[in-house]
Amino acid sequence: MTKPLILIVEDEPAIADNISYALTTEGFDTHWLAEGRPVLSLLASTPAALIILDIGLPDINGMELCKQIRQQTRIPIMFLTARAEEIDKVVGLEIGADDYMVKPFSPREMTARIKAILRRTQPSDKSLEPQSAPSVFILDEEKHRITYLGESLDLSRYEFLILKLFIRRPGQVFSRDRLMEAVWDDPGMSMDRTIDAHIKNLRQKLRQIRPDLDPIQTHRGIGYSLKEDL
Ligand code: CA
Repeated sequence: MTKPLILIVEDEPAIADNISYALTTEGFDTHWLAEGRPVLSLLASTPAALIILDIGLPDINGMELCKQIRQQTRIPIMFLTARAEEIDKVVGLEIGADDYMVKPFSPREMTARIKAILRRTQPSDKSLEPQSAPSVFILDEEKHRITYLGESLDLSRYEFLILKLFIRRPGQVFSRDRLMEAVWDDPGMSMDRTIDAHIKNLRQKLRQIRPDLDPIQTHRGIGYSLKEDL
């Protein structure tokens, strides 16, 4: 059996080291990130079991990051904070964290609490856990990859750029002009029907994965959008 992977998002190396040591000796794998923003793309490609998330990060506030993670996945999140007064906010805002620790804390206690969270959130019968299903589309910008219903799509450069635009703004209708501007280096070179051809190819690739689902909507005379309620 593979070990559960815990992401440690903490800018202080000494604290991250302590946590990592405690978790590793208890049979977990760990991955350390000193900044918050890379978490989102990492989650798209890495099946982590839980995130330990420091609130005071150099590049983004941990609570803000938590909200963004929640748009993508239900992965359990444990907050770390240096200030007890922040806990009221964490709890009061109900931004979707599963637990928190106030620094300084005992790594042993943290490990025990993490085990409890994982027992609670990972019932042995996975079918009872529909909320843990991955998002329909997962965009991994760094790797230039989009996953659809868990399967990696094999997209041309233009198909990727068009779908990326849709994923960022579900529900928004994009005219062909708007799509061309956003995607083509030299829009003047292309005709309307080029967009239509790429959309057609995209739909074909999506249908190969789920024949009964058409996530792209045609707005006659206007353009295209990605369905919002996927
Ligand atoms: Ca910090």
